[in-house]
Amino acid sequence: MNDANYGDSMYLKVLGCGSALPKPGHQHSSQLLRLRDKVYMIDCGEGTQMQLLRFGGSWANLHRIFITHLHGDHCLGLPGLLSSMSMSGLDHPVHIYGPEGIEAYVHFIVETFCRDDAERIIPHQIDHRQVQRVYEDHSLVVTAFPLKHRVPCIGYRFDEKPKPRHIDREMCDFYQIPIAYFGLLKQGADFQQEDGTVIPNHKVTKSPRAPFSFAYCSDTAYYPPIVETIKGVDLLYHETTFGADKMDRAVATLHSTTTDAAHIAQQAEVGHLLIGHYSARYATPELVEELLSEVKSLFPRSFAAEDGLTLDFQKLRTL
Ligand SMILES: [Zn+2]
Ligand SMILES: [Zn+2]
Repeated sequence: MNDANYGDSMYLKVLGCGSALPKPGHQHSSQLLRLRDKVYMIDCGEGTQMQLLRFGGSWANLHRIFITHLHGDHCLGLPGLLSSMSMSGLDHPVHIYGPEGIEAYVHFIVETFCRDDAERIIPHQIDHRQVQRVYEDHSLVVTAFPLKHRVPCIGYRFDEKPKPRHIDREMCDFYQIPIAYFGLLKQGADFQQEDGTVIPNHKVTKSPRAPFSFAYCSDTAYYPPIVETIKGVDLLYHETTFGADKMDRAVATLHSTTTDAAHIAQQAEVGHLLIGHYSARYATPELVEELLSEVKSLFPRSFAAEDGLTLDFQKLRTL
């Protein structure tokens, strides 16, 4: 996912899908979400900058990094990534979101490795106990919500904003609507002719495609309160650290099994489910395939994350 023009879709790239003990092919957690000209990073485990290079990504358009929690497999890549960005001549601010502790951690990194960019590397500490909007720009809204883990941990929901309606030029000409009014038509306004006749918006515009949405839930125990917040997303990433037979390990470590992830996906009525954050015991493609088949037996529209996997949200809707 480099800086080429990716058109009108939204894309997710998995940079790392392993958990505490990384394995070749299952690096520590990190994902990139690309929408239009912006790239958003979620988690930044150790090795993330090398994974970026390996999979053709770049940090040129990376302005925001969302960290779920301060376990090493989700944030130890930050010193290396920020240090390299700083050494390469950082020409834009980088905002880093995360729970309690993120401010001190980012300050340490900046003071130690990138002092010249102290003004440009900005932490945002989020209260992990409540659902809240934490970021918004012209194309996207990001909502943070509590997960259930051994330390303060946040899930993130990314919602593309609705796109403007498309002008039907032929119909606008037919009703003699001036071009100066097109901006309002795109926002959904009706048009009133001089004799008072109202031309309803739907007669002169066409609906845009529905906005894309994505939710990221790692790390967490089975936690149904998240269902309401992640309801109906196109794609849910939910961790499956363990297979269904390791329920006791999942409960003890506040992680999820394949069954847990599938049940959350069912309840939230999501479009597709992406699993990952595999325990080191699932080090081969065959073992991951077993996890995936457990998930698919309950929620068929599921994929297994692997390092380098890219998902195109437009294509997901056709599957
Ligand atoms: Zn983890
Ligand atoms: Zn963790």
